[in-house]
Formats: sequence, C-alpha cells, structure tokens
Amino acid sequence: MKDIVVQKFGGTSVADTDKIKNVARAVIREKELGNDVVVVVSAMGHTTDILTKLAKEISQNPSPREMDMLLSTGEGVSIALLAMALQEQGCKAVSMNAMQVGIITEKVHSKARILEIKTDRIREHLDSGAVVVIAGFQGITDDFEITTLGRGGSDTSAVALAGALKAKRCDIYTDVEGVYTTDPRIVPCATRLEQISYEEMLELARVGANVLHPRAVEAATQYKLPVRVRSTFKLNNLGTLILGVEEMELHRPVTGVASDLSQLRVVVCDVQDNPGVAATLFDGLAKENISVDMIIQSYARKALNTNDIAFTIDKADLDKTKEVLEKVRPELNYSNIFIDDKIAKISIVGAGMIDHPGIAAKMFKSLAKLGINIKMIATSEIKISCIVEQSRANDAVEALHTVFGLDSNSVAEVKGDLPNI
Ligand code: ASP
Ligand code: MG
Repeated sequence: MKDIVVQKFGGTSVADTDKIKNVARAVIREKELGNDVVVVVSAMGHTTDILTKLAKEISQNPSPREMDMLLSTGEGVSIALLAMALQEQGCKAVSMNAMQVGIITEKVHSKARILEIKTDRIREHLDSGAVVVIAGFQGITDDFEITTLGRGGSDTSAVALAGALKAKRCDIYTDVEGVYTTDPRIVPCATRLEQISYEEMLELARVGANVLHPRAVEAATQYKLPVRVRSTFKLNNLGTLILGVEEMELHRPVTGVASDLSQLRVVVCDVQDNPGVAATLFDGLAKENISVDMIIQSYARKALNTNDIAFTIDKADLDKTKEVLEKVRPELNYSNIFIDDKIAKISIVGAGMIDHPGIAAKMFKSLAKLGINIKMIATSEIKISCIVEQSRANDAVEALHTVFGLDSNSVAEVKGDLPNI
C-alpha cells in the first residue's frame, strides 16, 4: 500500500481559476513522488465572508442551521473546480463533500466538532488511482444535517482526515511561508521557525497566530501526525514542521509572541463570596457553548462578603453572555457589569520556559518600560499572557519580540492586510 499525503489549500491558494490550476500542479507533483494524495480545500478567496454578508443583508440574526447550509456551499465550488483542473492536466480525480465521505460531527451549528470520519469510500477512490478532493470546513450530523467547523475549520478537516487515513503527513499550504515568531505584518523582522512543537503551536494558535486553526493542532497532537505549514507559491520551500516536543531539536525559552484582538473582558462586580457562585456563572456560560478563556477572581472583601470576577470571551459571544448574566443575576446578586471590548491579549510562548526563571518578570518589565498597563495575567507551563489596551498591542508585540531575541536579520515578506485595530 502506498503512503497517503493529505494536502490542504486555503482560500488564498484557490482564489481564482489560475490559482486553482497552480494548485492542481502542486497536487500532481506530490502524486508523482509516489504517494496517494487526498486534497482538502477551502472556499475561494473571500467567499465565506461574502456569503456571511449576504445573510446579514437579509437578517441580523439568521438561523444557525441556514447559515451552515449557506456557508458550506463555498467549499463545494472549490472541490468541483479543482477536480476539473486535475482532470484537465491528465490526472484522475474525484471531488467529495462531507456527506459523501461521512465526516460526522456533533449536532452543533457553526462550530461543530468532528466525531468520526469514514474512510472506506475515500480508500476505494484512492485504490482506483484517483486523487480525492474533499470539501473542508463542513460536516454532517448522523441525522443528515449540514454543519460547519468554525471559521478556519478546513485546517481541522485536513488534519482529522489525515489522522483517520493514517497519512504519513499533512501539508497545510497557505500564503505565508511557514510559522513565524510573530505576525510578520506587525514585525517585519519576524523569523520563520524550522520546527515548532504541537504544544507551542497550540498555544500560539489559540492566542491568535492565524496560521492554523487550534482544533487542527489538537487533532495533530492526538494522532501524533507531522504537519507542515508551507507556501503554495514557493513549492520548493519546506516551511515549518510541527511535531512532538520530544522530537524537537531545540527548546527555546520563548519561541513566539502573539497578539489576539478577538476577545473582550467582562467584569462582574460584587458577587457574593459563597461556595457555588463561580460554578453557577460558568456553568451557565458552558451550557450556552460559550468558551471562557482567562478568569480572575479578586481577593475577597471580607466585611461585605463579596468579590469581583473578571473573565474573557470571544467578542462574538457577547450577546449570549449578557443573557446568561441576566439569568444568573438573582443567584449571584452582583451590583454591576463592565464590558471592556478594547483589549488585546499579548502572549509569549516557549517550551523551554519552565527551565528559565525570570521570563515573566522580563515580560512585565518590557511592558512597564513602554508605559503599558497590564489588566489581567494568566500563565501556563509554556505560556504567559497579559491583557493590555488594544491600542498598544503592536508596540507590545514589537518590544517583546526584540527583548526575547527573536528579531531576524532579514525582513520577512509581508502578505495580506494588517489586522484591524
Ligand atoms: N472557508 C472557511 C473560512 O473562511 C473555512 C476555511 O477557510 O478554513 O473560514
Ligand atoms: Mg483558512
């Protein structure tokens, strides 16, 4: 049996028909190396954004089921066109959507998790000598409802397929040349990493390094699957290899710096300092499928028997969060709620951090030097995150990148638009 390689091409790689023809050449190249090839594609260019805009023109609050029905069409276009391009270049190819493959997800719209992937039909096509082109981002419930995996979810489709097919590698082709020490659009002297561990990548992906969907990294960790992030437009470059921490050649105290502008901070003031209060609040949020990132409970004010609880959530979950807070108000008896939506989460990540004391102090000192106030701090074994004023996010990233010795001599090629601040 031949080895299987899964290749994933993002929206920018299939943005127009010339680019789709270019992708077909990259696929044929991999097949000519003697591998069976499964390709996962995203929707063309900004299709998903355009479809979302159409929906918003009709309803401010479209039904999640119909949203998934709508958004899943984008990937359907790409798979058919890529299969045609492959056939045109003399390569046997077949396109399949999630229903035809059997990519089974939970019954949750707009951010479903994959539960199971059936591989028999894919294998049949591979055995017949065809390249199989599969729609990313979409799934199907066991009662045939169409779901999507969340924005950027095609990465997860690709890695999960590679895991289910026991592929030897999953290559994520994109418009950047790999994983960088930080976003090269903010810091032009960011350095491309040759290797990064799953653990570090997961932290970077979670804190907003937009190269890979966090669930894709989780899936790669689970399957111990090597994932390569590489450029569609420079096929000879090997990009960045993501692998287990034990297989890494080098453990740096700080591998990368990331800034995440997608969250906001909610402060619930003067809640009763009694057992079960935090449980009620966060259980209420969990039941609505709202993920909470950082949580801080302040030192209790003994005389009043109250304290404050602050937490961060995705901006998109604000309305649902307000509803939950209203519901638990009688039980929590809080006095007030503050919403702070002008924040940025700045994080430094490194697998070698544990062995180097003083990394946190160095980070805080660098921020202090710039007069940047820290609103919240959270740490894990390989990450330190600070919430700061959004307007200072880029200053913070630049300074930390320099302080931790990540600046490269050569300036990285800048692609794409700067994130909106
Ligand atoms: N087309 C989807 C999106 O734009 C999925 C993806 O590209 O990964 O989010
Ligand atoms: Mg993407």
